[in-house]
Amino acid sequence: SSGSEESDVVIIGGGPGGYVAAIKAAQLGLKTTCIEKRGALGGTCLNVGCIPSKGDLWISLQGELNMMATNLTRGIEGLFKKNKVNYVKGYGKLISPSEVSVDTLDGENTIVKGKHIIIATGSDVKSLPGVTIDEKKIVSSTGALALPEIPKKLVVIGAGYIGLEMGSVWGRLGSEITVVEFAPDIVPSMDAEIRKQFQRTLEKQGMKFMLKTKVVGVDSSGDGVKLTLEPAAGGDQTILEADVVLVSAGRSPFTSGLGLDKIGVETDKIGRILVNERFVTNVPGVYAIGDVIPGPMLAHKAEEDGVACVEFIAGKVGHVDYDKVPGVVYTHPEVASVGKTEEQVKELGVEYRVGKFPFMANSRAKAIDSAEGLVKILAEKETDKILGVHIMAPNAGELIHEAVLALNYDAASEDIARVCHAHPTMSEALKEAAMATYDKPIHI
Ligand code: FAD
Repeated sequence: SSGSEESDVVIIGGGPGGYVAAIKAAQLGLKTTCIEKRGALGGTCLNVGCIPSKGDLWISLQGELNMMATNLTRGIEGLFKKNKVNYVKGYGKLISPSEVSVDTLDGENTIVKGKHIIIATGSDVKSLPGVTIDEKKIVSSTGALALPEIPKKLVVIGAGYIGLEMGSVWGRLGSEITVVEFAPDIVPSMDAEIRKQFQRTLEKQGMKFMLKTKVVGVDSSGDGVKLTLEPAAGGDQTILEADVVLVSAGRSPFTSGLGLDKIGVETDKIGRILVNERFVTNVPGVYAIGDVIPGPMLAHKAEEDGVACVEFIAGKVGHVDYDKVPGVVYTHPEVASVGKTEEQVKELGVEYRVGKFPFMANSRAKAIDSAEGLVKILAEKETDKILGVHIMAPNAGELIHEAVLALNYDAASEDIARVCHAHPTMSEALKEAAMATYDKPIHI
């Protein structure tokens, strides 16, 4: 229960940003309350995002998926108890910079007071004009995780990482997948060379792409769904038929019913809460972290925000470098990257070198018959400092962390190359790519 006792920190939202901030705040000795409307902790990530979407890769039984999410959610509740975080289940609304009114899930209303209030309300699915999500035939990622049967034809609107991950899950289960994307490329933030190989790989797996294509209408009145498409540059319309359409055109910050207007918290034009480097909004005492503020909309970034934010509150120093947040696309193979793409390096105008190494020449990858993909390292020409690393491989999401560490310590490519790597491992490909930036790799 919350009562009228004041907390040091009150957190609205129990996603990866909010729950991690709550545990860390309690560990730092702050009296902490976390408010969550879902009745389950872990947020988008654990309930309808990162975890179930990966679970689907190996668990196709919905029951098991739900059980896994429930177990993880209970695990966080256990951590709250262990760390003495006060957990309030209900919808929070700011009524002053130090008070949150909560409509609790058991139908009561209570006021929670805090010296510091952290908004960690995350994000929600963005729909498209003229497309109404019914979570049956026209689904968001949430509905796509709960389809009762495998659709014969699935059309994915939007070639971002969520659309591609979900598309490839259903593709592996037997659906025919067509991805419709307005932009000329899939995952626009990806290094172009890697992206081209990635797209080819997905095409080989049977995924079809319609790029530079606009969805102008969706009709679900008949048996299936009929999409009306038009070239992005304008031109003749065509019809594409589907059994199910997945709308994955991005996510929007979620602040509805939060009372931001009431206390005057500033947002940008797409609704993200503006904060300074200490995560403080324009209203002193009110902070924001995670998907609801600008920056990469990723769970691990939200967690880092949460830790840094409460460290500041506790009088310590925290820091999150958004340029060094790794990004992973969890398809088969995976694509992982950190730092700059080659296009971004060119734009910076620095002279650079590229070191590449294909998994075709890596003995472990050959031994496990997973030799598709490569490592690409971009390093500054003069200093050999690593600027960006991009990996396509079955376990790229794990391999990337050596590069994340290197980048955070301002390492040179040679620093990676001169470190002894165990044989036979896929990590050796990173070492060889590092050698290739300033010298020659051995095995190719
Ligand atoms: P959220 O996780 O959205 O949590 C916010 C919480 O606040 C929610 O539980 C909500 O119920 C609660 N809330 C909101 N308003 C109120 C209120 N007024 N009162 C009380 N409670 C409130 N990221 C990755 O890093 N890796 C991935 O592999 C990945 N895969 C994804 C796959 C999918 C399909 C989706 C949709 C997202 C994925 N993401 C992934 C993104 C990731 O889920 C988010 O970046 C992350 O959850 C953001 O954390 P957050 O704490 O800021 O917000």
